[in-house]
Amino acid sequence: MGEKAVSIARLDVAELIGILNEALAEEWLAYYQYWIGARIMEGPMRSEVEPELLLHATQELAHAGLVAGRIIQLGGSPILNPARWFDLAGCEYEEPTDPYIEEILKQNLKGERCAIQRYEDLADYTNGKDYATYQMAITILNEELEHEHDIEDYLNDLNIMKEDFKKLRI
Ligand code: FE
Ligand code: FE
Ligand code: MG
Repeated sequence: MGEKAVSIARLDVAELIGILNEALAEEWLAYYQYWIGARIMEGPMRSEVEPELLLHATQELAHAGLVAGRIIQLGGSPILNPARWFDLAGCEYEEPTDPYIEEILKQNLKGERCAIQRYEDLADYTNGKDYATYQMAITILNEELEHEHDIEDYLNDLNIMKEDFKKLRI
């Protein structure tokens, strides 16, 4: 624990650690959502989308690392039991029972939008009160915004392709 790290935070550190553990649970679930989705996915553009989803998975894991590191700095304990991920996470994990690429991407998109809100809220909560957590929240937020945009682009391309096929049938 960083003693000074805790004393300079002008907010309720215990509450902040609670919020950070919720974010940590979400990052692990997001990691698995991408990781498993990329592997079971079927359909058009799969070979192009798969490596990007696996990259996003590793980026979610890196976010988990940043969040866990900050929890420890603040004298807290990162979640020690994965069984608690579902209790703590505010973002949903969706079982990818339909492997069609569009469904996988839609699940990931929902997750990204939830993550964006999480880090927007964390930035608001820490703004001007805890610069280190604030900066971390912004760093992660920027990557979640990139993720959302990547997935929106893929979904848009899939839609264009579908429309083109419809025209061919006429
Ligand atoms: Fe993330
Ligand atoms: Fe993300
Ligand atoms: Mg990307």
